[in-house]
Order: sequence, then structure tokens, then C-alpha cells
Amino acid sequence: MIKQGIADLIAYEIKQGVITNRDKVYVKNQIYKLLDLTIDENQKYEANDIKYPSDALNPILDDLEKRNILDGSFIARDLFDSQIMNIFADKPSVIESIYHKKYKSSPRDAMLWYYTYAQSLNYIRMDRIAKNQAFKAKTPSGDLQITINLSKPEKDPKSIMMQAKQQATSYPKCVLCVENEGFAGHATRDSRNQHRLLKFEMNRYNWYFQYSPYIYYNEHAIVIQEEHVPMKISTMTFKNLIDLTNRFEGYFFGSNADLPIVGGSILSHNHYQGGHHDFPIQDATTFYEENRDSFKLSLLNWPLSTIKLSSKHKDVLVEQATHILEAWKSYQNEDLDIIAYTDKTRHHTITPVVRKENNIYHMYLILRDNHTSEKHPLGVFHPHEDVWHIKKENIGLIEAIGLAILPKRLVEELDAVKAYILNDLALNDAYKKHDIWAKSLKTIYKKEQNIDTFIEEQVGLKFERVLADCGVFKLNKDEKEMISFVKEALK
Ligand SMILES: [Zn+2]
Repeated sequence: MIKQGIADLIAYEIKQGVITNRDKVYVKNQIYKLLDLTIDENQKYEANDIKYPSDALNPILDDLEKRNILDGSFIARDLFDSQIMNIFADKPSVIESIYHKKYKSSPRDAMLWYYTYAQSLNYIRMDRIAKNQAFKAKTPSGDLQITINLSKPEKDPKSIMMQAKQQATSYPKCVLCVENEGFAGHATRDSRNQHRLLKFEMNRYNWYFQYSPYIYYNEHAIVIQEEHVPMKISTMTFKNLIDLTNRFEGYFFGSNADLPIVGGSILSHNHYQGGHHDFPIQDATTFYEENRDSFKLSLLNWPLSTIKLSSKHKDVLVEQATHILEAWKSYQNEDLDIIAYTDKTRHHTITPVVRKENNIYHMYLILRDNHTSEKHPLGVFHPHEDVWHIKKENIGLIEAIGLAILPKRLVEELDAVKAYILNDLALNDAYKKHDIWAKSLKTIYKKEQNIDTFIEEQVGLKFERVLADCGVFKLNKDEKEMISFVKEALK
């Protein structure tokens, strides 16, 4: 089985264009040595067609477990299979030069080549990502997108033990650092053996482009500053996001906010996210529009307070976005519970997103406020307690524009809620957090409705509520205040 797996994998990588027939002997020798196997020249293996690298890697890893080379934990498997895949991978400089050569004749082809390369090398584990459950849900704010993240493997007891024993390490400083390129990993750090970055210069700083190994949408990209410096929303952010939409054709780019609660999970390393995907915020209608000399202003019917600026002049957008950022930093409106500062601690920032369509840049500026109160200790403009049974975590960039990433636990929990609605099966103690919601759903559910569609719609409505909690100017209530804030901010 193990030798069959190797033959399948080599044939797959030739088909994918990662290696050529010329590399076959070298690669085979390297893999056999790594797996502590001897080559028998008389044995021939007819390669099978495989869909994912894991189709070949799994039998190889199973065999290593039988031979006690691996201990049976998923961490040991993940750390090891990336060593196998690294044998196929070119060095970063080679990959960059192939990319740049392709880019000259077609940027789009170059990006797709690099994206496919990362999948062929199993750096993006597409077999796991394919497990995610995704659906659209109709809400008054439009069709929101929901993904239940099932791509992370279950933690087994051996892996948990390995993680407990692992000493804290400070290299690389974080999971985004460029030092992850080729990093072997350990119990608490994913292996990045076959990870390769693309370096480029932007506005006088060095940056790196990569795809996310956990893609949540098509061509989910990450752009990382060379230095491990904290997230910072500034004029430079607006400039960079616009430049990125020119460099990576057809992609949107955005940044998480730079403050806790309203930022993403990593605040310690400046980075952006982008990709080839349409988000619900793009379809939002407007409650206010104004054509100025060189740009158009629109205020969106979107649960999070969003100002959209459109123009073909990038300098105009950068300038106006800066005015809004500066004005928002000090905007205080106690009647609406919008608080700019507590002593010297700043609460206000922006989650910015840029798209380019038909040579017009569209910049979305989502206003954020991270202050807390006695009633809302996790954040006044953060999901409130009554929606925590669906989502308690921070609402970062991706969710703020309409794509919910929900945890795996929900699959079982939603099944329990369905059983309660259909068959009156009581929720067990672990699922009691859904009690109030389940009861209210039972009263509105109609027998002729498809229960799966019904629950999906209800999860969508909950997600809309989650987003509405994060809106600083509430829709259908504070429009006047939002208009006057923006008019005053723009010059
Ligand atoms: Zn870092």
C-alpha cells in the first residue's frame, strides 16, 4: 500500500505540473529514504488517479503508524506529510521567478498557477476544506453567507498530550511571520515545510503574498508585512489596499481593524486579506447618496455602519478615507452610546475594504467602536449575550462584510434543535444555550416547511442580529446622525 501511495503521489504531481518526468527518480529516491523504505527495481506500480494529495498520503501515513514511526496522533501525521510534500516543492526564489514570468503575460494566470500549486503541494488541504458546510440565508439585509467550519480535524488524546508537553516557543514570532516559510512546525505550530511566499515592494515597504491554508472562500489570500509590527489602520492602509487591487486583478482587499474586540484574531502582525469572491455587502442598497466633484458617497443599508466611497481617482479616495478615519477617531455621541475615548484609550477605528470594478475603486469604510460597559463587558458593539449561542467571537473583516464562519459544534447542536422542533425531543444539558431560540422557532415553524431550509434561514437571521449588534449607528433609527457625521468628516 505504501509504495502504491508513493507511485500515485508522484504521478499526481507530474499531472499537476509541480514536477516533470525528469524529476521522477530524484523524488522517488528522496521519498523512499524519508519513509525508510528500500527500492526494488523489479517491482512496478501502476499509478491510480487521485483527486487530492491526501488520497495518496493517507495510506502512506497509515503504514508509518503500523510501523510505529508515527504515534497515531493527527499532529504527528500533519507534521510528517508536509515533509513528504516538501520534496516536491521548489525553492522560494524559483517559484517567484516562475510567477513573475507568468505575470508578465497574464497576471490572472500567474495567480491561478500559484493558487493551484499551493493546493497540489497540500499546503492548502482541499480535502478538508471540501468538508465545510456552506449555505446562503435570506434576510432583510440580503442573502448572507454562512460557513460551518468542519475542516479542522478532531483533536485526539495523543495530540492533546503532545500539545500540553510542548514548551512555548517564540520562533517564528507569530503564525503570519515570514519566518514560517519552510518551518517544520511542532505540537503547537502547524508545519509550513512546503509553504512558499511571494515577495514584493509596496509603498516603500516589503510585503509578502500567500494563500490562506484554511481558505474560507475562493482564492482566500493574505498579504503580510515583512516586519512583525502590530495592525495599524492609517492613510497607508488605504493606499496599500488600493494598490493591491491593481496588482492582483479581480481581487478585493481588506484589513481587519487595529483594536481588540473589533479586530480579527491576530493584532500583532500587520496584514490584509483578499480574494476572488463576492460578499453580501456589495449588494447592499443605500439610504443616502451624494455625488461630489470627484467621488460618490453612499451610505449602506447594512447592519454594520458602512460608508462607501467610489471614484476612479485613488488619491481622492485615500484623502477622503483619511478624513473619515480621523473624524471617527474623535466622534463622540453619548445619546447613541458611541464613545471615542476612555481616558487616553482610543475606542474608534475602521474596517476598510476595497474593490475595483470597471476602473472604479469602491472603498467600504466600516465604523467600529470597541468600548465596553457593565451591561456589555465584552463590548457594546459586539454580539450581545442573547446571540452567543450562535456566535460569541469577535466580528472581524470577513464577517463584517457578510460571511459568517461558525464553529463545528453547531452541526450537532442544530440537529438537536431540529429534533426538538419536529419531534419534541428535549435538548440535552449541553445544548441548553439554544433553549429560548428553539422554543421561539417551534412556534413559527410550519409543518409543510423543509426543516433544513427553515433552520438555515433562522441561523442567517441570527447572524444578521450579530452584525446589527456591531453597528454603531443603528439602521432605521440613527440615519440622520450618520449622515451628519459623514458630511462633517468629508472635506
Ligand atoms: Zn509575525
